[in-house]
This record gives sequence, C-alpha cells and structure tokens, in this order.
Amino acid sequence: MLDIRALRKTFGAVEVLKGIDLKVARQELVFIIGPSGSGKSTLLRCMNRLEEPSDGSIFVDGVDLLSPKTDINLMRRKLGMVFQSFNLYPHKNALGNVTLALRKVLRKSAAEAEAIAMAALDRVGLKEKAGNFPSQLSGGQQQRVAIARAIALEPTVLLFDEPTSALDPELAGSVLAAMGDLKKAGMTMVVVSHEMRFARDFADRVVFMENGEVVQDGPPAVLFGPDAHPRVKAFLSELS
Ligand code: ATP
Ligand code: MG
Repeated sequence: MLDIRALRKTFGAVEVLKGIDLKVARQELVFIIGPSGSGKSTLLRCMNRLEEPSDGSIFVDGVDLLSPKTDINLMRRKLGMVFQSFNLYPHKNALGNVTLALRKVLRKSAAEAEAIAMAALDRVGLKEKAGNFPSQLSGGQQQRVAIARAIALEPTVLLFDEPTSALDPELAGSVLAAMGDLKKAGMTMVVVSHEMRFARDFADRVVFMENGEVVQDGPPAVLFGPDAHPRVKAFLSELS
C-alpha cells in the first residue's frame, strides 16, 4: 500500500535522507526508531509532501505521490498525520475541532460532520468530552482529539511523529491505548516514537534509522533481541 524507493532529501548541501527504501503493507504497523537527527521526521514529512523529496519515489496504493499529475490534496487526506504538538484550535471544543476538518476538507454537511466526528471521538474514548475545549482537556485527551480528527477523514495510512513525547507517562498511556485499538481495528500505521513497549506489543516491523539510512528493518523480536544490528543494540542500551 505504501512503497518508498530510493528516497532522498537534501537541505542545501546536507543529505538528510540517503536513499530510503520502505514498504508498508495494508493493516501493518511500522515503528521507526533512531537517534535524534537521523531523519525520521523528515521521512514522515516527505510521505505526505509537507517536505518535497529531492529524489526517489513514493507510491500509495499504486499512485505516484510525486507525479505532478497527482492531486496532492487528495493524497494528503489519505495520509493522515498526528504530530507531537496537537495543534487544536483553542476556541473550538473537541467536537468542533473534528467537525471543522470534515466540513472544510470533505465538505460534509453540519449534521453529517457531527455524526462522523462523534463516532471518531468515541473510538478514542472521548465521547463524553465532546463539549470540552482544549483548555479543559488533559494533554493525553487533547492528543486523542487530534487522533480523532485524523481518523474522521478516513485515511489509508496514519503517520504519527512522536505522539506521546510531549506528555507525562500517565497521560501517554491513554494515547498509546487508543493507538493500539486503532491497530487492532486494522488501521495501517507508521509510528515514530520512543515507546518501545508499544512497539513490542503492536509493531509488525521495527525500522532503525541512522544518518539518513535504514540500518535494520525487521520484526520487534529481531530488533529488540540478540540478533539486532550492533548499532541498534547500542542505541537501545543508551535509552534504558
Ligand atoms: P528527532 O529524533 O530529534 O526528532 P529526527 O530523526 O526526526 O530527529 P529530522 O527532524 O528528520 O530528524 O532531521 C534530520 C536532519 O535534517 C537534522 O540534521 C536536521 O537538522 C535537518 N533538517 C530538518 N529539517 C530541516 C530544514 N528545514 N532545513 C535544514 N535542515 C533540516
Ligand atoms: Mg523528529
């Protein structure tokens, strides 16, 4: 469903992605780890063209994302993104934050948008908080509203860039639980995170990046086990 080949990205003279190959199958959860500056965020941003790749190709369900003929707004809708900072509108309640995207992007009627938004909030356990404004929600709840906003648009893939790193551990748990539920429901996901327990429980594959390259790509049992690449072992031992 997602097929990235020889992807390169340079900023000025600096090559930040040095030929990334990555495939994500339908309903798969691919978990990306690596040191700071290794290019994880840049890779996710290239996947929905928030960043323009310098070379290589990205296919989404067979559609060439980088072709000038491709409707980039349509493709962005298919590649939902959840960031570290939730970026909610402070003057809109949880429901309003989700319906806004539905009305603006999908041109849904008010009634239809509200029904879809309530269902999305329900999926992340926030139906009861639909009327709360961001200031009346915990960080974990705000992030779950951001996830509801992304899933309401029915993306084919959800991309997460460190969705819990701005949260205290106890708040992160509710976000990880919501993400685990999405995985169980069959959502295709690419997750950049340091939550290794989540990776062990839910990832189909773990990808270790360093210096703009994929060093190892395999099941969690391999990357978190004795057969991990020495650089993966070194990285993980520094974390713990
Ligand atoms: P972190 O774990 O700290 O989030 P990361 O793996 O997500 O790191 P990126 O944010 O992708 O790393 O950055 C990779 C490299 O690209 C870094 O060296 C960074 O300085 C550089 N970089 C990122 N964005 C730009 C930009 N807009 N202009 C110039 N350099 C950039
Ligand atoms: Mg990053």
